[in-house]
Amino acid sequence: MTAQNEHEWFDAPDPTGNTETGEVGLRFTCTQCGNCCTGPTGYVLFTDKEAGAMAKDLGISKPAFYEEYTRDTIVGRSLNENKTGYGYDCIFLTRDEKTGKTGCSVYASRPEQCRTWPFWDSNLRSKRAWASAAKGCPGMNSGDLHPPKHIRITRERVEI
Ligand code: SF4
Repeated sequence: MTAQNEHEWFDAPDPTGNTETGEVGLRFTCTQCGNCCTGPTGYVLFTDKEAGAMAKDLGISKPAFYEEYTRDTIVGRSLNENKTGYGYDCIFLTRDEKTGKTGCSVYASRPEQCRTWPFWDSNLRSKRAWASAAKGCPGMNSGDLHPPKHIRITRERVEI
């Protein structure tokens, strides 16, 4: 993890080199394409407290939640996936067939891993890492401008 007061690439004016406006910060607004919730098999990690919140949202007990919606992986307990025509969908991913927009059936209680995308340490460690992540996420580098302070605070919320 980078020290809070250390200058980082996204502190520079126009850090992505895409805007030519000299703005400081990174742009992101989700377009609900669903790319981050499907594709190759992956992990959505969560805490036990988050499991409790999702179970409550679903109206089931926490043990039932673990049993039905989660699995053990090499990096920890993860939400399950469904194999679909799009790839491995998060078990809570919803799709509106008319609009093509995706949603989340536990949106209000979704884990920090989902809330903090794309401001993960793995995406912020370099301009190249950010650009690489942006290839799969049309919400990155467009939409709302997030200042460096907000980016740092968000990054600290998960280790990923
Ligand atoms: S890939 Fe990006 S734009 Fe698409 S749903 Fe995920 S966060 Fe939103």
